Amino acid sequence: MVAPRPAIIVHGGAGRGSGEWREARLAGCLKAAAIGWTALESGRTALDAVGEAVAALEDDPLFNAGTGSSLNRAGEVEMDAALMSDTLEAGAVASVAGIRNPIRLARKILEDGRHVLLTGRGACDFARQAGIPLVPPETLVTQAQHERWKQDHGTVGCVAVDREGHLAAGTSTGGTPRKLPGRVGDTPLIGCGTYGNGDGAASCTGQGEAIIKVVLAKTSVDQLTSGLAPMEAARQAVALLARRTGGQAGVILVDRLGVVGYAHNTEEMPLCHIIGGEEPVTVF
Ligand code: ASP
Repeated sequence: MVAPRPAIIVHGGAGRGSGEWREARLAGCLKAAAIGWTALESGRTALDAVGEAVAALEDDPLFNAGTGSSLNRAGEVEMDAALMSDTLEAGAVASVAGIRNPIRLARKILEDGRHVLLTGRGACDFARQAGIPLVPPETLVTQAQHERWKQDHGTVGCVAVDREGHLAAGTSTGGTPRKLPGRVGDTPLIGCGTYGNGDGAASCTGQGEAIIKVVLAKTSVDQLTSGLAPMEAARQAVALLARRTGGQAGVILVDRLGVVGYAHNTEEMPLCHIIGGEEPVTVF
């Protein structure tokens, strides 16, 4: 049997027209992948590594997640996030405000185990009980930067496999710019924006409404299960989304041996992967 190689891949959102910020976004992806890789290298789990990498991207205002999230039509931040492990344990939040790192709240929900998805006020009450500090919602709005990037998609996500061969996936977003208040995208819906099982883990980005309709993350992992290599599995899944919905999206994938795959039909999707301790690779 081939031993798994620890591996991590992060994405900084499928979108267009951010050429000006290309290097900065790639640097953000590289930094997050390195943080996740350090966790894997020190023997921590894929779930830990994904959580740390996504939290780093949430803290980077260049990305549409956590600080720097898109605003909805009411001018508010409403964020979605999810985390899932190959044991099918999952935690997710939708439409939350005032949480600096929604991915950390998703982890607490996963650990608690009673529910998979909490929304809005209930999610914030749970955060208080779980010891996750709430911040004034306006601290997550970076107005000047937001004006520049509001046309972009810049959701963040990460998938990883650890030394034991366990997989995890996580995704976090402010959602689509100028969305209706209360809109929930693909990100926190298990199987749509985020999925992991014993065969693979996937994190998606792009037009949430299209991603939901083809259950893109699970569809991608199913392609692995049916025997495709991760790169081909990602391509086939994005092609299926394009064919069936005419939408645009991207996905990152990892299988249990630490082979990564990715595909998108958007102009760009900054990403970085680190496989088995090799040099990090960034791709735009
Ligand atoms: N998929 C996210 C959503 O629809 C947006 C994105 O990936 O940028 O909420």
